[in-house]
Amino acid sequence: PSSLREVTVEVPNITWDDIGGLSNVKEELRESVELPLLKPEVFKRLGIRAAKGFLLYGPPGVGKTLLAKAVANESNANFISVKGPEVLSKWVGESEKAVREIFKKAKQVAPTIVFLDEIDAIAPRRGSFGDSGVTERMVNQLLTSMDGIEVLQGVVVLAATNRPDIIDSGLLRAGRFDKIIYIPPPDVESRVKILEVHTKPMPLAKDVNLRMLAENTDGYVGADLENLCREAGMMAYRKNPEANLVSQKDFLDAMKNIKPSVDEEVLKFY
Ligand code: ATP
Repeated sequence: PSSLREVTVEVPNITWDDIGGLSNVKEELRESVELPLLKPEVFKRLGIRAAKGFLLYGPPGVGKTLLAKAVANESNANFISVKGPEVLSKWVGESEKAVREIFKKAKQVAPTIVFLDEIDAIAPRRGSFGDSGVTERMVNQLLTSMDGIEVLQGVVVLAATNRPDIIDSGLLRAGRFDKIIYIPPPDVESRVKILEVHTKPMPLAKDVNLRMLAENTDGYVGADLENLCREAGMMAYRKNPEANLVSQKDFLDAMKNIKPSVDEEVLKFY
């Protein structure tokens, strides 16, 4: 299939309220992505350039994709999501063309947020630059494509990675990413907020204490907490197939099955 047909445009329905915690990151993205897309005249009037490239980095499951989708939705922008490895495997020998077409499509349907997930697969790591030729050409195409976009024409690039070590690579050194933003694992307060998001549709028993659960889930990222809530619901069902409430005990039992994905070892990396 032609690579153009592979570029799918979506309109996400994630809102800022679906993201627990990360209030400073949300604030930053509102001001530097949402504002220029919704009110480009502010930037024209003040004679300032809006940032067009953002790199979000942090451990898996902390909400990087969620943030990109929310910023697209809240900016009334289209969303084109491309995973680094997909580009590499699907378009062997056509990677540069793929990158060009992603940006062409983005301009056609602007305003658009282009989300490059797992960008580390595209951007070569230090020392390996030029190893394959394919990645080098692709990075060059990406740089050229990024140079060719204008926020005032409504295209903004958000990239995400779990690999902070690529921050050193040619792609980032070249200065195309105006802002590099760390997305940390949630602290206690953020975990309360995330638990609130994911328990919202759940019928909770009176004894459920989200703060206490938050205090006991150090190392759980957003994705872990979402799994924990689902598992708590399943616990309630397993104990009683007719259950219509989920209790604190169900959450505590669920914690035996759903473990935190972040520990000291992982964090050393960031
Ligand atoms: P990866 O690097 O693995 O792609 P990610 O950082 O992009 O991870 P997401 O895909 O955004 O993480 O998160 C996975 C799921 O975890 C989300 O769909 C959401 O349900 C939940 N989640 C993660 N972070 C949060 C958060 N801050 N608030 C609410 N839910 C969250």
